[in-house]
Amino acid sequence: MPDDGLPLEQLLPLYAEVTVKIGLNLQPGQRLLILGPVANGGASLDAAPLVRHVAATAYAAGAPLVEVLWGDEPLQAVRFKCARRDTFKQFSAWLPGALVAHVEAGHAVLSIYANDPDQLKNEPPELVSMLQQTTARAVRPFREHLSRNQTNWCVVAAAAPAWAARVFPGAEPNQHLDRLWSVIARLCRLERPDPVAAWEAHLNELYTRTEQLNRKRYTALRYSAPGTELTIGLPDGHLWIGGRSSSAAGIAFAPNVPTEEVFTMPHKDRVDGTVRSTKPLSYGGTLIDGFSLRFAGGRVVDVRAKQGEAVLRTLIETDPGAARLGEVALVPQSSPIAQTGLLFYNTLFDENAASHVAIGAAYKFTLQRGEAMSDDEFERAGGNRSATHVDFMIGSADLDIDGVLGDGRVEPLMRRGDWAPGN
Ligand code: ZN
Ligand code: ZN
Repeated sequence: MPDDGLPLEQLLPLYAEVTVKIGLNLQPGQRLLILGPVANGGASLDAAPLVRHVAATAYAAGAPLVEVLWGDEPLQAVRFKCARRDTFKQFSAWLPGALVAHVEAGHAVLSIYANDPDQLKNEPPELVSMLQQTTARAVRPFREHLSRNQTNWCVVAAAAPAWAARVFPGAEPNQHLDRLWSVIARLCRLERPDPVAAWEAHLNELYTRTEQLNRKRYTALRYSAPGTELTIGLPDGHLWIGGRSSSAAGIAFAPNVPTEEVFTMPHKDRVDGTVRSTKPLSYGGTLIDGFSLRFAGGRVVDVRAKQGEAVLRTLIETDPGAARLGEVALVPQSSPIAQTGLLFYNTLFDENAASHVAIGAAYKFTLQRGEAMSDDEFERAGGNRSATHVDFMIGSADLDIDGVLGDGRVEPLMRRGDWAPGN
């Protein structure tokens, strides 16, 4: 190993253990379904070694059945090359129903990212958007179940050659993969003497942070950084969440491994000003870079991007909710992922490296009693609804955030990217 990390044969069983015990907290009798990025199909074949270890750990934890939906990126390239353009609105007839049936039966879902961030870079943007929108619409009921924490679910990552080459462009080709695995191991705390105990402690710290923020009852956050002057209103009853969530059956699980963020929902109609991205956004195989969004009354009214502007515009036009925000998340610059200084071209890592917001759907569990609300009630309370949810990074060492209290007083929350003293 180039940076004296854990050998893969030790790393994979540890990652599998953290995934099954901490991430999913899989219960005896629960089936496990493993797939790829939730809106993009099956698990990459490059993830097979991790998948096998996860399956072994899941069976040992009492899973009666582990199923895997595989996805092969070169096969998707075949579709772009050979399928008629007017067929890109077609989606699997059986998959959406099967996903929903699995979740409604109370079984667990694991999503593994091992994808090539440039996979669709050279495909026509309108076909990429059509595929993304078709997929998002078809799997929307499934995604809504997950966002409601109907069952315990988790997202993890596996190093894969094309992804590793993107993260370490300077490395020797045969070292990319080892280096990426080594970073994943460090960020997932697999090199700690007891990774499961290290995760318990870290998740407890995140919980303490959310409790502090929930006591503040901020009515808005004000962001200020080069290119950014933005006010994000927070609705009455917003809830800060971090680390662990709880499923409908009461299972405490950690939806992302790794995770460093605390997050809540913005008020969909109370976002005003301009925000500039601080990292490129890898979306559906294309890279959107150097972009700014201007908001008025919660809605995006102006879009600029140095790269990928067409895809960004189509993303925002997915549906009315795709032009509004559904998540606001805080991550200090001192977090281990930010400290790597790496760009992962993968939301699981990059969203934990910087404070961010998400275009699209808000999570009902980020509002008090939100999960019991009808869609209309949730919208009236300020919750955004959309078929999409895409995070983009706005945090940096230049970002200051103020919290606006109920009586109008303003106090520093983050300074130069880290928690302000007293927070
Ligand atoms: Zn987030
Ligand atoms: Zn998000």
